[in-house]
Amino acid sequence: MSTNILYTGDNLFFLRGMNSNTVDLIYLDPPFNSKTFYSAPIGSKAAGATFEDMWTWDDVDKYFLEQLIDDYPYLVQFIDSVDVINGEAMMSYVTYMAQRIIEMHRVLKESGSFYLHCDSTASHYLKIICDRIFGKKNFRNEIIWERIKGAGKKSQHSPKKWGASTDTILFYTKSNDFKLKPYRKYDKFELLEKFPKTDENGDRYYDDSAHIFRSKSLGARPNLCYTWKNFKNPNPSGWTLSKKRLQEEFEKGNFVITETLAGPKLERRKYQKDHPGHSLNNFWEDIEAVGGDEDTGYPTQKPLKLLNRIIEASSEEGDLVLDPFCGCATTLVSAQRLGRKWIGIDVEEKSAELVMERLQEEGKLFDKFIHSNNFPRRTDVEDIDIDDKNIKERLYADQKKKCNGCKDNLDIRHFEIDHIIPRNKNGGDYYENLQLLCANCNRIKGNRPMEYLLMRINERDKLFTKKIGFSKRAD
Ligand SMILES: [Zn+2]
Repeated sequence: MSTNILYTGDNLFFLRGMNSNTVDLIYLDPPFNSKTFYSAPIGSKAAGATFEDMWTWDDVDKYFLEQLIDDYPYLVQFIDSVDVINGEAMMSYVTYMAQRIIEMHRVLKESGSFYLHCDSTASHYLKIICDRIFGKKNFRNEIIWERIKGAGKKSQHSPKKWGASTDTILFYTKSNDFKLKPYRKYDKFELLEKFPKTDENGDRYYDDSAHIFRSKSLGARPNLCYTWKNFKNPNPSGWTLSKKRLQEEFEKGNFVITETLAGPKLERRKYQKDHPGHSLNNFWEDIEAVGGDEDTGYPTQKPLKLLNRIIEASSEEGDLVLDPFCGCATTLVSAQRLGRKWIGIDVEEKSAELVMERLQEEGKLFDKFIHSNNFPRRTDVEDIDIDDKNIKERLYADQKKKCNGCKDNLDIRHFEIDHIIPRNKNGGDYYENLQLLCANCNRIKGNRPMEYLLMRINERDKLFTKKIGFSKRAD
């Protein structure tokens, strides 16, 4: 797949068209209030509308409900309980997010990282969703970003809560083998202060010769006492490192023998290149909210510094960064400046205009990128011949001779092969996307999602409820 692409449309369909294991880093800052967000002119504040107004079961893509039910039954149980605890709006929202996070997890490389930006409205629900999809052992951190200094957001008169001033970023990886440099680089002044010396190649270092030998007070260590290139430990406490390690460090240039009037002198050097910066913890209070020239007027714009930190820490030059809710393109700008490749997706046409504008303002950096409304097509799944008799037999056995709609037990010749996700919704000719339906069910379903068929069957059975797809099949 060629990269540096801006897609406009529903990210679920684009994600489904991407090959598995191709992305190094995903950052997403999904909307809480989708409809207002989508329909509001860019620059208008989408604030004011409440969460409940925004999410309904209609926001959930019915085409992919079956996948959720079949592949993640426990997730479905959890989502059902969200309905009881928090109501339908939250249930719809977490379902919408779960469908997309499943695809993000799939397209992420085994060494990839995932950062989900949210706030306390939904962070605890989303964490359980991510624990299920990524596996709880791959949860790394909850990063708290102090978005607003001072008292934060609260009601002015007789406050009912503490001021809210932080966002939450959930950090997951796909496996235990991933890239992470959790540092803040030294600034110019810190560099001069910390690494005052320069070697013959121009590399900065500080003299750490005070740590060649262990201090006498540490007591005798016979196994660290030795002679190396005529240098000998001055007391029985010995060297700070073994002879083997000393030789290795010498070969790396971290120990240097210099000639002085008093004879050869051993110098230990700590180079800047081996010390990337200040170690960071999970509380980020040093990045201010967007302001000044950087402000595009986009309601949920995040500062470049925030994205720079994430991209620098969890990817390398040439890596592919994906932002499936790219909004006003902060992630893409950051990725481009840092020499990463990128894919951005946003549903809103207006967002695309703003992105184009911003990318062009970045000047020559953005000469080459593609803007597309067309779904990509996966090239890593084997298209199969659906007329192949074996495929039908395999499906028949997998479905235990039952129709996937009405559940009737029928002879194989009464079944037809159906695309669970129709071709016009970017569903392909691969095995996982195929099922057997009896001729009657197939006719009812047509190009519609499975939920429609199940609903019709249940209308017939006078058992219809809106969430039949979930409640009935989660067990
Ligand atoms: Zn049927």
